[in-house]
Amino acid sequence: MKLKSLEISGFKSFADDTKIEFEDGVTGIVGPNGSGKSNISEAIRWVLGEQSAKNLRGSRMPDVIFNGSSKRKPLNRARVTMILDNTDHYLKSDYTEINVTRKLFRNGESSYQLNGQDCRLKDILNLFMDSGIGDNAFSMISQGRVESIFNSKPEERRFIVEELIGVSKYRLGKEKAKRE
Ligand code: ATP
Ligand code: MG
Repeated sequence: MKLKSLEISGFKSFADDTKIEFEDGVTGIVGPNGSGKSNISEAIRWVLGEQSAKNLRGSRMPDVIFNGSSKRKPLNRARVTMILDNTDHYLKSDYTEINVTRKLFRNGESSYQLNGQDCRLKDILNLFMDSGIGDNAFSMISQGRVESIFNSKPEERRFIVEELIGVSKYRLGKEKAKRE
């Protein structure tokens, strides 16, 4: 499974339809301060279902919609599509290519699509659960999070390692069984 491309339109500083293709190997994104590098990683976080505007450096979710510049008027909707190569069926789906789309309009209307079909946020979260990919998984590590990992207590760091090796779900299951 790999990230093939990302289509961003009306999201943060990306007013125009923008397609970013990820070739094999390592991709680095470089550019001057304020050119939109972090906005790209936030587009990925957002399409994966991020629900906290604060995690996207905003105060309300519509803050992700392009809000105008000296030359352009604000736009009415943000749209991000992530295209994944799933030929190895790493993600539990019959599709060999998976497209995930999220849209948000200024009036608050929002939608998610999986391979062109309307779906719920829950369907997206389920698809990526236990895959190591997701709005809160360790495939995405923000600048602030690197610091918090370094500065965390040993027990907290253990939690991170457990999550990485996939033990967390068993621990959560055990805790749930104990409660019941
Ligand atoms: P740095 O190198 O400093 O980390 P960067 O390349 O990561 O910079 P970003 O933080 O991704 O840059 O982009 C910041 C730019 O995005 C700012 O100019 C900001 O005005 C713009 N921006 C953020 N949200 C929106 C929005 N909703 N509409 C228009 N522009 C926006
Ligand atoms: Mg940045």
